[in-house]
Amino acid sequence: MRAARAPPCANISASQLHAQVCRQRMDERTARLLAYVERNVDHFAAACTRCGKCFEACPLARYSGKLAGQAGGAVVTGILDLLQGRGDMPAAIEWARMCCQSAQCVKACPEKLDAMLMVRLARITALGSTGRAPLMADAKRDPNFFRRINAFATLQLTDAEIAEWH
Ligand code: SF4
Ligand code: SF4
Repeated sequence: MRAARAPPCANISASQLHAQVCRQRMDERTARLLAYVERNVDHFAAACTRCGKCFEACPLARYSGKLAGQAGGAVVTGILDLLQGRGDMPAAIEWARMCCQSAQCVKACPEKLDAMLMVRLARITALGSTGRAPLMADAKRDPNFFRRINAFATLQLTDAEIAEWH
């Protein structure tokens, strides 16, 4: 009679097991972070009226030839399309690229939406950091961005803390 085979885990060293558990936890936290992004995208898509007031209030818009003369409503629609993975409007990508987090857009929103968060999520999406194809040249200079998002997620932040980070 043949001896019973040891269970697969018996062949894993303590450090391999630790690495496996860490990877599993990291995957869970990344999933939480991506779910947080998705929840916000759904919220912006449903609540934003595309009035464009946030774009009109942005002090940076005048400093880019790609943004000059653009209609705010069209650029915001471009941002929302980008967030939903169905658009690559150059002006929307440019706005997301330029954002310096001044928060002027937040004050301008009549719907009390966090337009800055919307633009920042568009930037993360355009960089390819949520798993979609990158739309922004910076992704080439920062190929480890998604890895850093993973590392960030390992800090075990709650949704409120992640919101604070934004
Ligand atoms: S937070 Fe970004 S998008 Fe909003 S006004 Fe400031 S620079 Fe413009
Ligand atoms: S100001 Fe608010 S409602 Fe208007 S387009 Fe910007 S985020 Fe949407």
